[in-house]
Order: sequence, then structure tokens, then C-alpha cells
Amino acid sequence: MRTQLHPDIIGTERGQEAEAILRSCVHCGFCLATCPTYQLLGDELDSPRGRIYLIKEMLELDTAGPLTQRHLDRCLTCRACETTCPSGVDYGRLLEIGREYVELKVSRPLLERVLRWLMLLVVPYPGRLGPLLRIAQWLRPLMPSQLAQKIPERERSVRVPTGDFADATRKVVLLEGCVQRVTRGSTNQHARALLNALGVEVIGLADEVCCGGLALHLGHTSEAETFIAHNVDVLHRAIAEGVEAIVSSASGCGVTVKDYGHLLRHDPSRRERAEAVARHTRDLAEYVLALDADVPRVGEGVRVAFQAPCTFQHGQRLGNAVDRLLEQAGYEMVPVPDSHLCCGSAGAYSLLQPEISNALRERKLAALRAGSPDVIATANIGCQLHLEAGSEVPVKHWIELLTE
Ligand code: SF4
Ligand code: SF4
Repeated sequence: MRTQLHPDIIGTERGQEAEAILRSCVHCGFCLATCPTYQLLGDELDSPRGRIYLIKEMLELDTAGPLTQRHLDRCLTCRACETTCPSGVDYGRLLEIGREYVELKVSRPLLERVLRWLMLLVVPYPGRLGPLLRIAQWLRPLMPSQLAQKIPERERSVRVPTGDFADATRKVVLLEGCVQRVTRGSTNQHARALLNALGVEVIGLADEVCCGGLALHLGHTSEAETFIAHNVDVLHRAIAEGVEAIVSSASGCGVTVKDYGHLLRHDPSRRERAEAVARHTRDLAEYVLALDADVPRVGEGVRVAFQAPCTFQHGQRLGNAVDRLLEQAGYEMVPVPDSHLCCGSAGAYSLLQPEISNALRERKLAALRAGSPDVIATANIGCQLHLEAGSEVPVKHWIELLTE
């Protein structure tokens, strides 16, 4: 694609990165077939190619307006288009640059500004999110159904096996995640139990903060960089003390931490450490599979539909890692049509774009139910809560199925 970015933009590092990405797109349109918003809305401007044009125009004219803002907001950041693109266009990076630019240039209606500000102020802080969530759960019966649906159900108390790492020969950090530890804290207990049973000692970090993913999605790069810098300091210290991997049981967090090297490339004091942290980061399924150990055979006779989160299949390209582990455990994996399409959760998206998000959830649940599963498994807390709210079939993190 020919480009001529505005002189004020082309001189910047982000401008040069954007130009290189824009030039790699050949307008072929293959990506339209796998874009959930294009499939749903049928508008070229809600497709990857349309959004690339909008970003190009914005960076050429050094101006942005509500039209560009609306169509970039509607993007799920699912990155299905990246998986499909034959030219290797780094759409996710371009979108990040585009969103940051739009945040600077286009103001939002007051209500939207307040909602976004509240999300940034609450969600990344478990100490704030936890108490507010408890209050919301008490008030849930009094809320209109559309709002009540957005409040995750209280976690039922479950018996989680306790691990024994007396014979541990390996040591990892397990990232707790902000939303996961508050809403489904048992997921990390299950992960610990399995890793311990496989001879891996798990250490938690008292001073872990949000991975920065939410702020990035909302176009607040500098807030994200503050979180990331803190995590790089504590995680790199853990690596220096001998942990072999940083394991994430939420694919939405893992995909961000794996990108820390790039995200802190401008920070000479941390760049190398950020790259080391990214290199050591593994999704839980990726790590367990690489151990090549015997997983407990606990799933005979149970049918499972796996919902592959976008951050798992497109962001981290982890393919069928979970299916393989669950099959080793004896579960019967049922096929899921259109498994490449997003469920509509997409971080803050389900709150900011509820109509599109709910429509995508209905489609995803219909696909997941097609093989009549006993349980739906996923690998990301956002997808789990989003699907749970509309599903009669139980939705669980896959690790629960290996340790129950
Ligand atoms: S598939 Fe890739 S090259 Fe083709 S239009 Fe989409 S982003 Fe551009
Ligand atoms: S990230 Fe997802 S929603 Fe956004 S343009 Fe790509 S395929 Fe479409």
C-alpha cells in the first residue's frame, strides 16, 4: 500500500513503525472472511482492511474524527485477521498506534469518558475490584437484567487439591491476574496443584501488578508502561533467582507479558530485562505440554468443547495445546465450528460494545453447543465470565478439568 504519512508523524518512531506496517498490506481482502465484526455488521469499515485505510488516512492527514474512532472502537483486537493475512500484516500493532492517536485527537462523550476512566481506576487493582464486585453481587437481584448479566456470579466454593512440591526440581512464577484472582481465584489453586503434582514448585509474587493489557486496549499507553515497568523489575528479579518460567493461566495476560520486550523497547534501562521476561513467559498449557509428563486420566466419558480464546490461538498461536492435554486426560473433545471467531468478550469490549459483544456470544455458544458437550472449557478468565453469563452448559478453565 502506498503511503505518505504527515511530516509531523513520519519523523516519529511510532510513525515509522506504522508506515512499515501500512506498506505491507496489499489490499487483498482475505482477512475479511475471518473478521467477526465484518461478518456480523457487513460494513467494510468494520473489517481489518477498512480499519487499515482509516488509520492510513488519519496518519496521512494528521487528523482524526468520530468515524475513525467508532470503527476502531468496534475492533475486538482478536487478531484473527493476522492469522489469515498472507502478507503478515502486523495489524494488532497498527491498531495500538491508531488507538493511541485517536485518544489524543478525538474527545469522547462524557458518559464514555467516565466509564473508561472508572475501568482504568478499578479493574487493574484487585484491592479495589474485589470489594466493589462483592457489593455489586449483593445488589445483583435488584439490577435490570442487562446490567446484572455483566456482574460475574460469586465463585462457588470448591475443593482444590493441595500440592506437594517436596520433590520439585523446577521452579516457576505463576501470574495471578487481576480479574482472575478476584472472580475465579480457584483457577490458580488448580494450576498450582497440577504443577506441584508434576514436580514443579510454584512461587507467587506479592508485588505483581496488572499486566497492562486493559490500559493498552483503551489506548492509554503510558499507564500501561507504568504497570509493565513494575512487573519487569519484579519478574526479572525472580528469573535471576532461578525460576525457569513465568506461567500465566489467563491467555489475555500471557499475550501481553510475552510482548513486554517490544512494549518497553524505548526504555534503555529496562529493554533487555523486558525481553528476558517475555522470553521466559509461557501459557499454562504450553508449559505443561512441554513437560511431557503424564497428566492424570480423569476425563473418561466426558465430552468437552474447547473455546480457544483469541489471545490463545491468534495472539500466542498455541493451536491445539489444550485439546491435546485434555485428550491425554481421557476427555472426548467435540468439534467446534468456526472456532477461529471471537466470543465477544475481548477485555473491556463486552462493557463498551455490549450489543456486538452479546451477538458474538450467542453465535459462539451455538457453535460450542453443536457437539452436545457436558462442559465448555476455556483458557482465559474474560471469555470464561462472558460465556458463563449466557450458557446453561458449565464453563470452566481447562485446568479445573485436570485436577477435579
Ligand atoms: S489479508 Fe493482509 S494484506 Fe490482505 S487486506 Fe487484509 S491485512 Fe491487507
Ligand atoms: S482484530 Fe479481529 S475484529 Fe479487529 S479487524 Fe482483526 S479480525 Fe476484525
